[in-house]
Amino acid sequence: MSEDDDFSGHGEIRDAVRDLCSGFDDSYWLDLDRRSAYPGDFVGALTEAGFLAALIPEAYGGSGLPLSAAAAIMEEIQLSGCNGAACHAQMYIMGVLLRHGSDEQKSRYLPKIASGELRLQAFAVTEPESGTDTASIRTTAKRDGDRYVIQGQKIWTSRAEHSDLMLLLARTSPMDSGPKRTDGLSVLLLDMREAPGLTIRPIRTMMNHATTEVFFDGVEIPAGNLIGEEGKGFRYLLSGLNAERILIGAECIGDARWFIAKAVAYANQRVVFGRPIGQNQGIQFPIARAYAETEAAALMVAKAARLFDAGETPGAEANMAKMLAADASWHAADMCVQTHGGFGFAEEYGIERKFRETRLYQVAPISTNLILTYIAEHVLGLPRSY
Ligand SMILES: Cc1cc2nc3c(=O)[nH]c(=O)nc-3n(C[C@H](O)[C@H](O)[C@H](O)COP(=O)(O)OP(=O)(O)OC[C@H]3O[C@@H](n4cnc5c(N)ncnc54)[C@H](O)[C@@H]3O)c2cc1C
Repeated sequence: MSEDDDFSGHGEIRDAVRDLCSGFDDSYWLDLDRRSAYPGDFVGALTEAGFLAALIPEAYGGSGLPLSAAAAIMEEIQLSGCNGAACHAQMYIMGVLLRHGSDEQKSRYLPKIASGELRLQAFAVTEPESGTDTASIRTTAKRDGDRYVIQGQKIWTSRAEHSDLMLLLARTSPMDSGPKRTDGLSVLLLDMREAPGLTIRPIRTMMNHATTEVFFDGVEIPAGNLIGEEGKGFRYLLSGLNAERILIGAECIGDARWFIAKAVAYANQRVVFGRPIGQNQGIQFPIARAYAETEAAALMVAKAARLFDAGETPGAEANMAKMLAADASWHAADMCVQTHGGFGFAEEYGIERKFRETRLYQVAPISTNLILTYIAEHVLGLPRSY
């Protein structure tokens, strides 16, 4: 298989990530999971090593690497048993600023994001009432002189407590103000360190994810922190989604490969009825199927990354990559628990933790149904269903 086929290149970067991750073993993650605590040391080490600045151009202090290298970093983190969800957004949220921000905004923020002095890893889109229907968000940003005043609520704003800046999607004009429902949405950069009226409440979830709900009661943002033009925020958001989907797809490939390696090792070693359980086809076949599914999904992740790096807009490929890789990791997770029998449920094996963590990617950042509706409508030309 060539490097292009499975983004298996970037060997030196992979080695360095693996080396770093070896300092954060299962017991580290288990302890955090029990306490619902944030992996500050792990994120600090990744930041220090420059991995989270992979996609920031060298001119702004980053490494200016292609998306395939960032995908390799995220895959390797998951493959090492770590959890990149604590910081993956630091890699890609800045893409909206990079592509649509002014020169002044880019030079003010990007070098500090690259060095880790500023954390931009909170992306506030989803609201309790709007769900997947982003056009119906109710949070408003009203212009008042040289400021915008924010009123409303977000939910599932992950890492808000561990971020200095937030990329916020809000309505600057009513939904019926333009030909499209998504017209009138704007993207603003909020400095959460100086934001009276902002309340962040953690939400405890199935896995340790540092997600929150956020309330805005007259929060002020300087007008200079509007990204791009007013009312065009949804378009800017879409431009960043392909990178996000490809990177999450790579994380799922890392998870799937982790589950498969665990299952193979255990199936070879566990002896029941006087022979290794892996000698039974009932155990072998699900592992082999998970492997085949993962390798196929990895091809789609690699294809999407390659198109992205070539300057194309691979909407279909990025969506398919995310869906296929999330399916592969979820199926591999289920297979891995089954292969381990009762031990799959024991905390100390780490499998049940990974099982919970990888389940998320059937739902976030976009749920499988919505990817299928995208393929049906935009690729196959079927009528829009919603
Ligand atoms: C742990 C976690 C972290 C998250 N982090 C962030 C974050 O950092 N920032 C952020 O903005 N959001 C975040 N999200 C939100 C996430 O993106 C949404 O949960 C997801 O997009 C689905 O939206 P929803 O939960 O409102 O589901 P809903 O939109 O209410 O949908 C519920 C179910 O119905 C299905 N459905 C809805 N409409 C249709 C349709 N027309 N056809 C078929 N099926 C349909 C969906 O696929 C889903 O399965 C996070 C969510 C979680 C759980």
